Amino acid sequence: MPSAMIPFNKLYQTGNEIDYLAKALLNGRLAGDGPFTQRCQSWLRQQTSCCQALLTHSCTAALEMTALLLNIQPGDEIIMPSYTFVSTANAFALRGGVPVFIDIRYDTLNIDENLIEAAITSRTRAIAVVHYAGVACEMQAILAIAKRHGLAVVEDAAHGMMARYHGQLLGSLGDLGAYSFHDTKNIISGEGGSLLINDSSFVLSAETIRQKGTNRSRFLRGEVDKYTWETLGSSFLPSELTAAFLWAQLEQAEWITQQRLALWEFYQEQLKPVEQQGLLRRPVLPSGCQHNAHLYYLLLSPEIDRQVVLEHCKQQGVSILGHYDTPLHRSPGGQRYGRTSGQLVTTDAVAQRLIRLPLWIGLSESEQARVVKVLETSLLQ
Ligand SMILES: *Cc1c(COP(=O)(O)O)cnc(C)c1O
Repeated sequence: MPSAMIPFNKLYQTGNEIDYLAKALLNGRLAGDGPFTQRCQSWLRQQTSCCQALLTHSCTAALEMTALLLNIQPGDEIIMPSYTFVSTANAFALRGGVPVFIDIRYDTLNIDENLIEAAITSRTRAIAVVHYAGVACEMQAILAIAKRHGLAVVEDAAHGMMARYHGQLLGSLGDLGAYSFHDTKNIISGEGGSLLINDSSFVLSAETIRQKGTNRSRFLRGEVDKYTWETLGSSFLPSELTAAFLWAQLEQAEWITQQRLALWEFYQEQLKPVEQQGLLRRPVLPSGCQHNAHLYYLLLSPEIDRQVVLEHCKQQGVSILGHYDTPLHRSPGGQRYGRTSGQLVTTDAVAQRLIRLPLWIGLSESEQARVVKVLETSLLQ
């Protein structure tokens, strides 16, 4: 009998979600910025030591807020990797900004900090970094470049919740950081995200932008006697239902991370001999980067046909996926709204060779062993 399909992802619930959702219902108010939102925000603030953490309805929304906060104008350039999710670029393109895509490092698949300065022009306003797989970018070098050229640094830390760089949580290193609590991430609320503000001069305007461009937050604190439209903004906040679910996850964030790391380590150990055979490359973790096991990826050797591998694994009941198969500079949107700086050789190669293995809490050791076995056979056929 064929064994059951091992899915790529399965969402994990801590067990308190229903209780907190019921409490939110009993509170008698479901709009944003209620008690669960406050609880999540102060937790995030304490963990990251940021000036302010604001819940948003997605990481995409948090990134759009960064573009508004930085007052990105048509023609302003934002240097970023192409090997990322669309929202990193789209958030700035929405304001008329021009994403300038540069290549990634072959070891971490993060933006290559050595290519940033060559991409800077008189229109450059910011550097948007993505911590791929929860492994930090070379932030010391990147922050130094930004300081030298007067640029802002935005961290797309969608993968990076609970991961650290020299002890500091990702998302709290740049001027602004964005987390995702989408179903596919480590800590979830279905849809959801957070903006981390690490430069206090952004706090008041971030509150305004998130509340439709009004000073409603100040009104609710009793600082003004009525609220009014002040600036451009939108509705970026989640409802209390989302925050209640998220609170059940944040309470267990450390435990969730430890569980995922154990699964990640198992793959890393089991696949060592396969790497030694020259069939693939395992993830590289630079010192100072404490990752969060957001995903376990492998780079197949160039002579291996990835499509054949993925198909074989699927037939054997194991769901293995690629990632960012069309890097943004190759996508219609990226070509229309952005441009490249230099050759993106590593990006193009990685997009065709990378695979991701199933990694979710509840995945058993025997299932993981089966994933490795099935992958090995598909590589050797
Ligand atoms: C998931 C993801 C996003 C978008 O997150 P949402 O919460 O779904 O908006 C942005 N950037 C990266 C790198 C992501 O992986």
